[in-house]
Amino acid sequence: MTKYPKRLIEVDLPIKKISEHARREKSIRHGHISTLHIWWARRPLAACRAVICAALWPDPGDTNCPEKFKSEAASLMKAFRDKRGGKPYDWNDGIELRKALLEFIADFANWDNSTNRDFLDTSRALTKVAHESLGGEPGTRPLVVDPFAGGGAIPLEALRVGADAFASDLNPVAVLLNKVVLEYIPQYGQRLADEVRKWGEWIKKEAEKELAEFYPKDSDGATPIAYLWARTIQCEGPGCGAEVPLMRSLWLAKKSSRSVALRLLTDKKNKHIDFEIIENANAKDVGEGTVKRGSATCSVCGYTTPVPRIREQLKMRRGGASDARLLCVVAKRNDGAARFYRAPNANDVAVARKTSSELV
Ligand SMILES: [Zn+2]
Repeated sequence: MTKYPKRLIEVDLPIKKISEHARREKSIRHGHISTLHIWWARRPLAACRAVICAALWPDPGDTNCPEKFKSEAASLMKAFRDKRGGKPYDWNDGIELRKALLEFIADFANWDNSTNRDFLDTSRALTKVAHESLGGEPGTRPLVVDPFAGGGAIPLEALRVGADAFASDLNPVAVLLNKVVLEYIPQYGQRLADEVRKWGEWIKKEAEKELAEFYPKDSDGATPIAYLWARTIQCEGPGCGAEVPLMRSLWLAKKSSRSVALRLLTDKKNKHIDFEIIENANAKDVGEGTVKRGSATCSVCGYTTPVPRIREQLKMRRGGASDARLLCVVAKRNDGAARFYRAPNANDVAVARKTSSELV
């Protein structure tokens, strides 16, 4: 009966170094799978690579560690270091060999080393000898299973270090991402990139053709790219009845390079709320939105209409989307400069009406 040999991850993991590499990886914009498609909670490849290696390879410092792994890992690490340099180690000592393996894992977490031949070959050889010395059939590979693979970091890294990978997810977007990363890119390479560009361009052209009439150009040639709307309620303050647009925040853009916001213009006499756009807005110039925790405060009379009444009003108007208020138009000039914001005009409202009648 073989006793369970601990894996490296159960003994130690160079977390500090791995974290540094994972942090640095966030700024990689070229050749990283994160640039393929947006996915929330993307795992850093650095951490996945390190964890997979440390979970597949046994700890040579453990008395139950197979001798075959110890001797082959020692010769692999020695060959690797003879080629690339590094501290001398006593290769007959299990604890020393553990140190060398953990150091290898920490360095391999570096993005720059992720496609380096020496690291790839050594890690794959270690995975193979670990698998075979732990009872895997010679010629087969260990299987890393990730039932909720998301953006595909874990199966991708499993393949990189010489394991087989099984990936699945409940979300069809994640399934497609994994198919592209794990199957299509290795199979089709550059041809896939060319085809995606070609057909992406085609979709863009066709969409422009079909949608142009709903985004008519302004008189100065700028093209609207988005219309910002707010649902409204009728203020239930005594004798008020003003139309209150429901807005959590008045900010339109809040970046260090660009800050634009809306300002409420309240006509108390006519009980009407309007807007103006403030460019280069400072936090102190920008007021609070009208909505807080679901209740809405009217800037005409100051009354706060409570959550249940807002729900009731919106329910009566089937959600209130059809008579929402157009707040602002986001547009782009022909010269390709940054987008800008402008107040809506009568034409915008007419176009929106036409669009909704097309959708019926
Ligand atoms: Zn009011």
